[in-house]
Amino acid sequence: MRNRVALITGGARGIGRGIAEAFVKAGARVVVADLTAGAESEWSYDLSDSTDLEQTVREQSAFGDISATAVDVTDAVSCAAAVAATVSTYGGLDILVNNAGVVQSGPIDDFAESAWDNIFAVNTKGIFLMTKAALPELRKSTSAVIINIASIAGKKGHRNMAAYCGSKFAAIGITQSLAAELAGSGIRVNALCPGIVGTAMWLEHLLPTHALEPAQQDAEFEAAISRTIPLGRPQTAADMGAAALYLATAPNVTGVSLNVAGGIEMN
Ligand code: NAD
Repeated sequence: MRNRVALITGGARGIGRGIAEAFVKAGARVVVADLTAGAESEWSYDLSDSTDLEQTVREQSAFGDISATAVDVTDAVSCAAAVAATVSTYGGLDILVNNAGVVQSGPIDDFAESAWDNIFAVNTKGIFLMTKAALPELRKSTSAVIINIASIAGKKGHRNMAAYCGSKFAAIGITQSLAAELAGSGIRVNALCPGIVGTAMWLEHLLPTHALEPAQQDAEFEAAISRTIPLGRPQTAADMGAAALYLATAPNVTGVSLNVAGGIEMN
């Protein structure tokens, strides 16, 4: 990893920050890219802003070389600007981590068309736009890798999760297609499928959606974990960092969708 340049979208917090920490500690030069202006009102939980980005850079600077840039992965011009900022800071790009993601859940009858469109704009089209923007630089690298953060929700459907699961199944399909298409250029493309990580997505949206009282939420989370995870504990951002590090450095691995889920999903 030493001196390789990585760009991580949605890197201001959560899983993206965990991956940034693993990469920085391994000697990579990392750009964390995220929204800077806060959430649009569409979301039932707050997305990141420039304060989160600054805090991540401040904390991770203790371990190595890291900087931040703004990106909205739903906007092609913004994606191109994030790649340009990375090249301007570190001179190239070797590893693209498409981690930015959003969740909304609910019965299909009541699900807003705008929420459906926004989920696919970030979780699915965002991979397309960022990859397209990054490819000219990745093609110059001798160790180019794309890692798409999909989900175990991309392997099996769940009640009230049609939009999110659909977007993550699509992320895996995109991963396999790009792996086949870009192999001839020496660019590996893999997906990472987290299980249950206690980030904003889980703690501020999925839990409150399923249980109203905080005490009930805690009890439900614990019960769900012991019931559903064979290894008996939730996953962490550090687990995702370790797995992303593997995918970034495994020379003959492409087209896989690696579950990091304590055995919840085995396919
Ligand atoms: P999170 O909400 O903490 O992080 C998501 C990040 O993406 C935020 O910093 C947010 O600001 C950013 N983001 C959202 N829209 C963006 C946009 N348009 N442009 C740029 N950045 C944007 O949640 P997380 O759990 O860390 O999620 C990271 C990834 O992991 C997501 O793709 C998510 O779907 C996936 N995932 C999470 C879990 C889990 O249990 N938490 C499980 C499976 C997959």
